[in-house]
Amino acid sequence: LNHQLAKLPTTIFTVMSALATEHGAINLGQGFPDTEGPAHLVEAASAALRDGRNQYAPLTGLPELREAVARSNARFYALDVDPVREVVVTSGATEGLASSLAALLNPGDEVVVIEPAYDTYLPMIRLLGAVPRLVRLTPPEWSLPREALSAAFGPRTKAIILNSPMNPTGKVFTLEELQFIAELVERHDAYALCDEVYEHLTFGARHIPLMTLPGMRDRCIRVGSAGKSFSMTGWKVGYLTAPAQLAAVIAKAHQNLAFSTAPNLQRAVATGLDQDTAYFDTLSSDMKLRRDILASGLRALGFGVLPCDGTYFLTADIRGTGSLADPLETDLEWSRRLSVEAGVTVIPVSAFYDESGEGAPRHLVRFAFCKQPVILQEALTRLEAWL
Ligand code: PMP
Ligand code: GLN
Repeated sequence: LNHQLAKLPTTIFTVMSALATEHGAINLGQGFPDTEGPAHLVEAASAALRDGRNQYAPLTGLPELREAVARSNARFYALDVDPVREVVVTSGATEGLASSLAALLNPGDEVVVIEPAYDTYLPMIRLLGAVPRLVRLTPPEWSLPREALSAAFGPRTKAIILNSPMNPTGKVFTLEELQFIAELVERHDAYALCDEVYEHLTFGARHIPLMTLPGMRDRCIRVGSAGKSFSMTGWKVGYLTAPAQLAAVIAKAHQNLAFSTAPNLQRAVATGLDQDTAYFDTLSSDMKLRRDILASGLRALGFGVLPCDGTYFLTADIRGTGSLADPLETDLEWSRRLSVEAGVTVIPVSAFYDESGEGAPRHLVRFAFCKQPVILQEALTRLEAWL
C-alpha cells in the first residue's frame, strides 16, 4: 500500500459531518449550501440526459462548456482565452487541482503553500514526490507575511498555490498582495496554481485573478468550480484555464485520472456560466446577508470574529466565550464538544495546518454560513443556550 495515503487521516469534513449526523447537530462544518442552486440548471441537466447526453464527453470537456468558460473569463476579467487549447473541464475543482499539480511537478520540486491551507493540497504535492514550503498567514487579520513568503521561494520552487477567495479564512487577496506574489513568481520563473472556486462569492472586496496581472497570463492556472458558482456541490464539475502548453499537459493528467466528466452536467454548467450578471450579484449578496447574520450573532456571544470578505466561511476566536473546558483545550476538542453538547458543528482551523508544524493556532474554528438564515439563527440560539 502507498505509505502516505495509508497513514492519512479521514478528512475533517467527513469526520465532523458524521458527528453532526450522530448528534443531530446543525452542520456549519462542511461547506455545502442547504438550498438547491437554480432550478433551470437542474432542468437543463435532466433534459440533457433525456436528449441522450449519456456517453463519454470529449476528454477536455464539451465544446459548449469550454466556450462558456472562455466567455466568462472575458466578461468578468477581460481575459482572452482560447476555448479549444486553453480550457480543460475536470471532475470537480479537486481533480483540476490534482491534474494541475501532476502536470507541474517532478519529484523534488518545491511548492509554496499558504497556511491555513485547503486539505487536499499537501497530500497531493507529497504524493507526487514534491515538497511543500509552508508560509502562515498571521491572524487575527490573516495578513500575508511578505518576508516569510519571499524566503519560501528558492531555486527549486516550481509553483505557488494561491487560494483567493480563501478557504477557511474568507480572505480575498488585495491587488498589492497579488502584485507582491506575481513579482516572486516571475523572479523565480515559477507557476501559480490559482484555486478560485469562490470567485463569485465576495462581499464588497473585488476578486482579482492573479492571471490578470502583468506577466502572469502564461504562468497561471485558474481553477473554478460549478459546485460553488451554482450551489451544486455534488455535481463535481470543475473548469480550468491555463496557457495552451500547460493545458495540454494537464489534459494528459486528466486523461489518466478521470478521462471525462458527466456530459449532462457539463451542458447545464455551460448554461449556468452564461447567466446574466444579476445571477452572480445575487449569489454573493445572499451570501453576504448570511455572513452578516452569523458574524453579528457570534460577536454578541463573545466570539472574536476575524475579517471575512468572501467564500462560505468565517473564522472565529473561541477564547472570549468563556466556554473552554480548560485554558489548554484545543479547537479540535472544543469543536467535538460543541457538536455533542450544543448541537452545532464547526471545523477546527488547526485541521488546515500541516501536522508536522509547531505552533499552529489552537483557538480558532471555522463556521460555514452557506445556510438558510433561519438555520443560522437556530444555531446561534443553540450556542447562546450552551454558553
Ligand atoms: N478548493 C477549495 C478551496 C474548496 O473549498 C473546495 C471545496 N469545495 C474545492 C477546491 C473543491 O471543489 P470541487 O467540489 O469542485 O472539487
Ligand atoms: N470544500 C468543502 C469545505 O471546505 C468541503 C469539501 C469536502 O468535503 N471535500 O468545507
